[in-house]
Formats: sequence, C-alpha cells, structure tokens
Amino acid sequence: MNLDHGRKFDGSQTRGWRQSLLVWYDRNRRDLPWRSDRDPYRVWLSEIMLQQTRVAAVLEHYHRFLQRFPTVQKLASARESSVLAAWSGLGYYRRARMMHAAAKVIVKKHGGKFPGEVAELRTLPGIGRYTAAAIASIVFNVPAAVVDGNVERVLGRVFGTDLAGEPLWQTAEALLSRRRPGDFNQAVMELGAIVCLPRQPRCSVCPVFGLCATRGKLELQRKLAPQQRRDICYALDHRDSSIFLVQRPKHSTLMPGMWELPEIPVSSTPSEVSLIVRHSITVTDYTVRVMRGRVSGESRGRWVPKARIPRLPLTGLARKILRQAEII
Ligand code: SF4
Repeated sequence: MNLDHGRKFDGSQTRGWRQSLLVWYDRNRRDLPWRSDRDPYRVWLSEIMLQQTRVAAVLEHYHRFLQRFPTVQKLASARESSVLAAWSGLGYYRRARMMHAAAKVIVKKHGGKFPGEVAELRTLPGIGRYTAAAIASIVFNVPAAVVDGNVERVLGRVFGTDLAGEPLWQTAEALLSRRRPGDFNQAVMELGAIVCLPRQPRCSVCPVFGLCATRGKLELQRKLAPQQRRDICYALDHRDSSIFLVQRPKHSTLMPGMWELPEIPVSSTPSEVSLIVRHSITVTDYTVRVMRGRVSGESRGRWVPKARIPRLPLTGLARKILRQAEII
C-alpha cells in the first residue's frame, strides 16, 4: 500500500504486518471476559462500555450488567431507570440510554437478532462507524477495519505521520487482515493498549518494531490537557433509615434524571467534615467534602429508604460517597 505522505508498505511488508500482529495477539492478548465467545450482545455491551472507560472499570460493571440484563430482550423490556442504575459508576450515561433504545429496535425490527452488516448496524441508536465495524468484524467476520484512539496512535507512529479522518480509515482498511478481521482489529487495539502506550511506547517488545518508522522517537505532538482541581461539597442527611437525595433535572446536559446527594456551597461548609472523597472526571480532579447534617432549603429532593438506594440510577460520585460512608 502507498500512503500519500511518502512512506509505503509493499506487499510483503503488508503481509508481515498482518502476520506479526496476529501471531503476537494469539500469544499475548489479555484474557478479557467478552473475548470468551462471539455473542453479539456481549460484544456490543463491551464495546459500548469500553468507549471512554478504562478496562478495569468495565470489568467491575460488565458481569453485573449481564446478570441484570442477560439478553437483548431483557434489556429492551427493562425500565430506563433500571438500565441507568446498572450503568451507575461508568459515567457517560447517554451510552446506556442509546443501548436501551437500540435493544428495543433490535427486538422490534429484527426479531431479537443482531444485523450482521456494517450499514445495518449503523442505523441503530448509539452505533457509529467504529462500533458497527467492531461488532461486524468480531462477531460476523466481516472485513471492516476499526479506528479508535489506539489505532490512530499506532498507525501514526508506524508511518511517522499524523493520520486523521478519512485517510486514517483508508489506511486501516488497506492493512486489515481479510482472513481474520475481528482478531486483527483487536490485535491493533491491543497493541496500542499494552505496548504502543501513549506516553512511553514499549518498543523493545513490539512485534512490528521492524516496520515502524518512529520506534518511540516521535515527540508527543499534542500536549495533554493540564489537570484542573476543584473543591465541591455535599450534604449527607440521614433520618431513621432514609437518606435525602436529589434528582438532576431531566433537561440537564450532564447525567439528566440521575440521583445524587444535595450539593452545598463550599463557603457555607460547617467546620466538621465527615468524609473526603477524591474523584476525577476527564480533566478535573475533585476534592469532595461530605458533611453529615440537616439539609436546609432544599426542595427538589426526596427521602429515599436505604434499601431502595442501590436500585436507583445514582451518579458515579454519589455511589462512591454512599459506598465509602457504608450506606450501600
Ligand atoms: Fe509503537 Fe514502538 Fe511499536 Fe512503533 S515500535 S508501533 S512506536 S511500540
């Protein structure tokens, strides 16, 4: 294959690229639960959860979600609040809402059977070019390449140029193994996840070292956004066996309809802090102070019996606080 930007892979290099990655993947892939079978529902769930969430966090939630909703039919017939509750802690709740909507379409329009073509998959809510190609290649062996952040970084380093947009997708398509597209796609992503790391690539153990133009010498071209710090305060009001919680507005752009503790101004904080929780969301590190005591002037909230709280769609932070306070 010939890239516009000067560097080429000839036929034997392209074959070497595919072969090296597949051999390496067969020996080194992580043993992740969604790799144990090719069930489309499980692969779809893992792909959606892995968007914007680390593998370790997904591992915690994946089995729990499957226990609650073991099939696409169960997911389709669930109430949205139950789906959000099972998603709680993973963040980016739009993903859960979209999965719920897509499950309904799969059951209603496709009789519960996943479509096997990329174009059809892309008509489902929340399934874009990447997810459609991932499901089609992994489950149905369709020769469709995927591009995510890992693939972009690996290919950019291998060819020594910043690849983006359509040229990046075309490069990924040209390099794809037609024989084992699903494994190959996972191999490139796995290489980016455990060898060609963002800050310090482990070039000495890289299976495509011989084909790589940069071999770790490429300077980071995009500076990482600096992490910001913020203080935030919540009240934990406890009466008999209930906790006072508030629901985020339904039209809120962030986590609409989710439940959390009432936020109180940092300046009005009483001197006694009962709990300090560290929490990070994208580029912000929060220091969260939790005060036990009466909430005053809060009309939006409701007293929720402790036994009901685990079934509510809580924000990730609320769940973390309530766990650390040993309430759930
Ligand atoms: Fe990444 Fe280094 Fe491998 Fe190149 S040789 S693909 S920079 S890990």
